[in-house]
Amino acid sequence: MLKQVAEGVLTHQSELIANNAVVVQGRAGVLVVDPGLTGAELACLANDLRELGQPVVAGFATHPDWDHVLWHAELGDAPRYGTARCAAFMEDVRSKPDWKARAAEGFPEEIADDVPLDLYGLITGLPAETTQLPWDGPTVRIIELPAHAPGHAALLVEARGVLVAGDMLSDVLVPMFGYDTADPLEDYLAALRLFEDVAGDVDFVVPGHGSVGGAGELRARIELDRAYVQALRDGKEPNDPRIGPSAKPGWEWVSDIHTGQQQHFGPGS
Ligand SMILES: [Zn+2]
Repeated sequence: MLKQVAEGVLTHQSELIANNAVVVQGRAGVLVVDPGLTGAELACLANDLRELGQPVVAGFATHPDWDHVLWHAELGDAPRYGTARCAAFMEDVRSKPDWKARAAEGFPEEIADDVPLDLYGLITGLPAETTQLPWDGPTVRIIELPAHAPGHAALLVEARGVLVAGDMLSDVLVPMFGYDTADPLEDYLAALRLFEDVAGDVDFVVPGHGSVGGAGELRARIELDRAYVQALRDGKEPNDPRIGPSAKPGWEWVSDIHTGQQQHFGPGS
């Protein structure tokens, strides 16, 4: 089921881990960002769009994690963009002879039988430093983020005031770090500053997972993520509602991710 966020911007949420697909209305069809997880959900999204009479004219993957690079034949064969680094990462993944088996190892067992792999990770890389999505619709600014995953990018649908944040600024997931850089914690703080730079233009924030944040919530989410990262950096226990007894039902496992990160980044690590 599609839900409206702002005029011409809709979301479609997966049942497991609450992935938010984002649909942006263009002139001759829609842009679909991170469409979803299972074959049934992707077909549902395709069906919803068909009922609205909206062909998919472009796709975008915010980053090369399995839950953001899936696709379904019924969504059509429009170009699925990503940053150059995102596309290169996925090309490397798909170049291994046993890539399907390797990818499937990361799928949650509840849905592993219904994650379609044929069109997995077929991303058209945009030249490095591309700042706008090439499509016939409202201006979509690309904000490449030095955090969480290689080639991670957020999108700002400027005229609608909607920030599609990729896997940051979630109300259910704490910051999670790509381990491929020299200083993941400082890189994460730098990525949060990029969000701060555009905060004045944002009315709604759509995280990769969790609920959409309305007016004024962007800055609160930036602060929450920043406090978490700083606590890890400083060897302190974060006071964070996403972990411990205040975690939302079904999200208790986020506390385990936190414990692992604390061990990885904590003092003496
Ligand atoms: Zn994700």
